[in-house]
Amino acid sequence: MATIETDYLVIGAGASAMAFTDALITESDVDVVMVDRRHAPGGHWNSAYPFVRLHQPAAFYGVNSRVLGTAAIDSDGPNAGWYERVSAAEIVDYFQRVLDEVLLASGRVRFFAMSDYELSSTGEHRFTSRLTGETTTVAVRRKVVDATYLEASVPSTHSPSFSLDPLARFVAVNGLVASFGPNSGYTVIGAGKTAMDACTWLLDNGVSPAAITWIRPREAWLYNRQFFQPLELVGWLMEGVSLSLEAAATAKDVGDLFARLEACGFLMRLDATIAPTMFRCATVSQSELENLRRIENVVRHGRVTHIGAERIELEHGSIPTDAQQIHVDCTGDGLPRGPARPIFQSDRITLQPMRTCQPTFNAALIGFVESSRDDDAEKNRLCPPNPYPERAVDWIRATNTSQRAETMWGATPDIASWMDRSRLNVARGLFDHLDDPLMQSALGRYLEFNELALEHLAELALANE
Ligand SMILES: Cc1cc2nc3c(=O)[nH]c(=O)nc-3n(C[C@H](O)[C@H](O)[C@H](O)COP(=O)(O)OP(=O)(O)OC[C@H]3O[C@@H](n4cnc5c(N)ncnc54)[C@H](O)[C@@H]3O)c2cc1C
Repeated sequence: MATIETDYLVIGAGASAMAFTDALITESDVDVVMVDRRHAPGGHWNSAYPFVRLHQPAAFYGVNSRVLGTAAIDSDGPNAGWYERVSAAEIVDYFQRVLDEVLLASGRVRFFAMSDYELSSTGEHRFTSRLTGETTTVAVRRKVVDATYLEASVPSTHSPSFSLDPLARFVAVNGLVASFGPNSGYTVIGAGKTAMDACTWLLDNGVSPAAITWIRPREAWLYNRQFFQPLELVGWLMEGVSLSLEAAATAKDVGDLFARLEACGFLMRLDATIAPTMFRCATVSQSELENLRRIENVVRHGRVTHIGAERIELEHGSIPTDAQQIHVDCTGDGLPRGPARPIFQSDRITLQPMRTCQPTFNAALIGFVESSRDDDAEKNRLCPPNPYPERAVDWIRATNTSQRAETMWGATPDIASWMDRSRLNVARGLFDHLDDPLMQSALGRYLEFNELALEHLAELALANE
């Protein structure tokens, strides 16, 4: 069995691992070994459905050292007026180029694809090639970096939680682009962003809203993309932050908080008559939302338990189907949960979110903190884990943790300076836009409400744990 040595063993080569490693080797002269069971870097993007795009602008996604996309503002389509979102194919190409031209080219990173990592019963780190079966042991001088703790599960690689009659026509969302020939319509299963993308794609390709049945067991609060804009449009980011803080500062209770967040346009929902129970950071534009509202045949009888040849069984009822209906699986956990762990634990780093739903920014910042400090307690103080939200009320806890971390980072000079240089920081260059009237009014609102908002959010977070 071969043995290799390295400073850092990074398990996984998804977007988080790539952003972390890029930041780490930029800031320090270390050797890194990366291992992934997939054939290429980029994690779940390699298994993504062909029509998916980033939900948020590409201008602040990826790794720090290389731009993703063209930083253009879309002039038409459902994202008109906002920074471009790139496709999965572009993301996969980007991460391959980052691997080849930045990480491997540095001479300090080695990448082992198609390899399963495991910790042996005797405490050895090792990986086994899926192609040759050969096992390599890794002697780690500094740390193991777990970039798999929150591994995304996507419909093309997971097993659905319901059973299927062999006569039922069924595809994972990736298969939706196949030609099905004559059919009686499409039943889209799932309440998250993947289901929204599938419905949007069908509508955009001429399928009538009446031909779509949408099984949506839960309703979600959605982020409005207007307020997640960087660079020249960063005034909108500040507008969104300040409006949400005003809502938090002035809300009488949780119900009132969400009513205010919706009234100011920061959060949106598909159906104004139903109180959402879910918040998973899905981000849409106003026009995408209006398009999706054209689908009226929404089924709310809980989750699917069985798809038969003539009926679909759900937790709380059943609906008719037929052998010509195309059932589209859009279930899967794109943002997995997992209890918060300390990010730095002696010889182990576990990559986790800190700023809400900005995974590559978070991973790069963890890389910077690792390379600039020695004391784990101090590193953990600066890097509070902030689990991905799931329930609607998790918006409160996630925003509270995120906003407090922002304040701490802003008050730590080397981190503030790193953030000002980081292309992954959506708020980069904010103070260059002080002449913008939108920015001025948003900053005024921020200063007025921030302190009280943090107090209220902490109280509400505690009451809704
Ligand atoms: C459809 C979709 C759209 C999204 N859009 C956005 C967006 O617009 N903006 C945004 O910020 N985020 C978005 N996200 C969130 C997204 O999950 C993150 O951006 C990011 O891609 C997650 O990367 P990751 O590295 O944490 O996880 P993953 O991509 O899941 O990577 C983990 C890797 O670890 C490997 N691995 C696991 N176990 C082992 C093992 N034992 N041995 C070897 N390898 C192992 C896996 O093969 C995988 O490649 C989106 C997610 C989805 C599903």
